[in-house]
Amino acid sequence: MKMIGLAAFAAAAALAAPVRAADGAAPRRERIFFVAGHPDDTEGFAATAFLLRDKYELHVIDLTRGELGLGWPGLWDGSTAARRVSEEKAACAYLGATPHFLCEVDGDACAGRDSVERLVTMIKHFKPVAIFTHWPVDAHTDHVQAAATTAHAIAKSGWTGERYFFEVLMCQTQNFRPLYSVDVTATIDKKVAMLRKYVCQNANDSLAMEKRAQAQLRGAERNPKCAFAELFTSFDGRPVKGGVLEKLPQTVIVK
Ligand SMILES: [Zn+2]
Repeated sequence: MKMIGLAAFAAAAALAAPVRAADGAAPRRERIFFVAGHPDDTEGFAATAFLLRDKYELHVIDLTRGELGLGWPGLWDGSTAARRVSEEKAACAYLGATPHFLCEVDGDACAGRDSVERLVTMIKHFKPVAIFTHWPVDAHTDHVQAAATTAHAIAKSGWTGERYFFEVLMCQTQNFRPLYSVDVTATIDKKVAMLRKYVCQNANDSLAMEKRAQAQLRGAERNPKCAFAELFTSFDGRPVKGGVLEKLPQTVIVK
C-alpha cells in the first residue's frame, strides 16, 4: 500500500515555514528525520525535538502503524491501525512535525525492500541534515528493523548527513552507550502532553509518567545534573562537529 508519494512530500514541505539563507539564496529550512518503529516511539526524542522544531522542519517516519497495539481484533479489522495513525497525527501536529507511515506489519516488521525504497525516495527528496533512529540493540524487533531500514536506505541513497540513535523504554533499548545528554527541563511538560495524545497506549497515564521518570533519572545521572534529560549517541560514537545536537545549548557530551 502506498501511503506517501512525492506530491504529499512536496505538500508537506510547502507547509513548513522557510528561512532565508545568509547569502540571500532561495529560502530553505533544513530537515530532520526521526525513523521509529511505531506511533508513540516519539517517546525516545520528543522533548529534544521540541528544542529543535523552531530551527528545523521535522519529519516522523513510522515503520508500522502500530496495528497490534490493542490486540488481535483491531489488528484484523484495521481499527487499531486507524486509531493509532490518528493519534500519531495528533501528536505530530502538537509537535509541529509531519508524520509518515511505511506500513510494515506491527510485531512482524522487516527492513523490506519496499520500505527501504520509500525511505530512499524520502531521503533524496527532503535531503535531511540529520536522521535519528532507534539504537539497534533492542528487545522489540520492530525497533531493530526500523534501525535496519534506516541503515539500508542511507546506504542505498548515498546520503552522508548526521546519524544519531535514541533510547526508548529502558526495558527495550539495551546496552545503550550514550554520547549526548540533552537537558530537556524546558520541554518535558510538552513531551508529557504529547505522549498523552497516544491515548490508547497511555492507560492510567503510564506511558507519560514512565517517560517522565526516565527523563528524571537521566537528568540525575548527568554531569552537571539537571531535572530532566534525554540521551542520544552518534553512528560512530564520536561527537558530530557542528551537528544539530551539538548546536543546542542544552547538550553536554557524556563522559
Ligand atoms: Zn515501539
